[in-house]
Amino acid sequence: MSPRQATALRDYEARAYIGGAFEEPTGTWIPVLDKSTGIQFGRYTDSSAEQVDRAVRAARIAQPHWAATSAMERSELLRAFASQLANRHDELIELIIRETGGTTEKAEEELGQSINQLLNSATQVTENAGAILPPYKEGKISLSRAVPLGVIGLIVPWNYPMSLAMRALAPGLAYGNAVVLKPAELTPIAGGQILAEAAQAAGFPAGIFAVVPGDGPTTGRTLSEHPDLDLIHFTGSFEVGHQIANFAAKSFRAVATELGGDNAFVVLDDADLDQAASAAVWSALWYQGQTCISAGRHIVMRSVADAFTDAVVARVERMTVGNPLTDRVDLGPIISETQLDRFHGGLVRPSIDAGAKVATGGTHDGLFYRPTVLTAVTPEMPVFTEEIFGPVMPITVVDTEAEALELVNRHRTLMNSVFTADSMRGLAFAEKVKGNEVHVNDAYARHGGEGQLDGFTHRQWIGIQTTPTSYPTWAESQH
Ligand code: NAD
Repeated sequence: MSPRQATALRDYEARAYIGGAFEEPTGTWIPVLDKSTGIQFGRYTDSSAEQVDRAVRAARIAQPHWAATSAMERSELLRAFASQLANRHDELIELIIRETGGTTEKAEEELGQSINQLLNSATQVTENAGAILPPYKEGKISLSRAVPLGVIGLIVPWNYPMSLAMRALAPGLAYGNAVVLKPAELTPIAGGQILAEAAQAAGFPAGIFAVVPGDGPTTGRTLSEHPDLDLIHFTGSFEVGHQIANFAAKSFRAVATELGGDNAFVVLDDADLDQAASAAVWSALWYQGQTCISAGRHIVMRSVADAFTDAVVARVERMTVGNPLTDRVDLGPIISETQLDRFHGGLVRPSIDAGAKVATGGTHDGLFYRPTVLTAVTPEMPVFTEEIFGPVMPITVVDTEAEALELVNRHRTLMNSVFTADSMRGLAFAEKVKGNEVHVNDAYARHGGEGQLDGFTHRQWIGIQTTPTSYPTWAESQH
């Protein structure tokens, strides 16, 4: 495939979108940069506490009317939202590449997932609104009715700004909620402005969806602590998720958190090493390792460790790093200096100081970081104990399967892999892994699909007595 031709991208502005209207900025403009070139292509302003409050209040007023619309009406609007995004395909692919520093494939994945999520939610909302429960009393019909939660505050990170917002936005709106979204500072355009423009053009009623761009500690915190939210839905780091969950606990606020993990990739002694190496590289280095499901710890049995490492290093050395908009590359830039310093200075260097060996990589040219393989990594080193969130593959050698399992379960994980020629051995291993998701002989996550009714509604029980019923007094019932 030939490199993409960069077009003269228009300058974007990410503004607060409240009550169905884009607002004039209240603060100073902050630049949004093309992550490969460092050149500004957009700008945003921090939303004030007054704007966050107004967005929540407008959402509160609009939500009951929205919830009262028919499921078909909401479904049609979600489809129109999806069409608005699909109609801007080429522009949005370029925007996502610039704003996130991902490759064309990553941008296509992100936009595709966002559109699919809207279409899935558009279908699901017409399929299920609760359940009819078995009668527990003669003549009584029992309904468990799914009722919208109300107003949802939504806070998302920068790595998949559009699709991670959509993961909650689409089902949230579909099931009759209003949503106030705060995108990440590094990606307020694909993660906020574009969604507001698409929803407005699709014809969503005013107030039902608001966007309040801004930083985490002020705008994000103001939103997450707003007293009139029914749910705060947060995707991001463990540390911030912890703060938000603490606040939610103190205020009896419902909270949904999707946090990071220190995921494991296990290679047992009978694994097909070519397959294992190809999956390991994919899983560790896709989008520069900046995904919550990236394989961060590669735990390999001793008898195959050298061959696995050689296969991995050979692949990694063929990979190219550069500007994904203008060059055909495997890896784009790291999202920011801060992230680079966090994993390179904070995790890779101290691990090398403690004895880890650089098999390949370990250097960078500005934000362009060579994909890196570290060997002789022990379970005490920071690259093992912390989520890396960068293009680094630490390899740790173990002598037994039991040791591998113990190391996998030592840290919080989201997605894990185990490679073995014996599927039943893989299954037995997977059953003992504590993480939510385990792949035997693969490392490819499943996205969306299942109904999300329970995450975005609560159940109201209604009992209807359809036959006459009377309750004698206690004294009468004695005769
Ligand atoms: P982050 O926690 O720093 O920021 C996430 C969001 O929270 C941003 O919008 C930020 O502005 C906001 N925020 C920051 N401080 C806040 C505060 N005090 N109050 C309210 N909001 C605040 O995370 P990040 O660096 O943007 O993203 C990387 C992390 O996200 C990694 O740990 C990664 O594993 C995780 N992640 C998880 C998933 C998942 O589905 N589980 C998906 C993607 C990323």
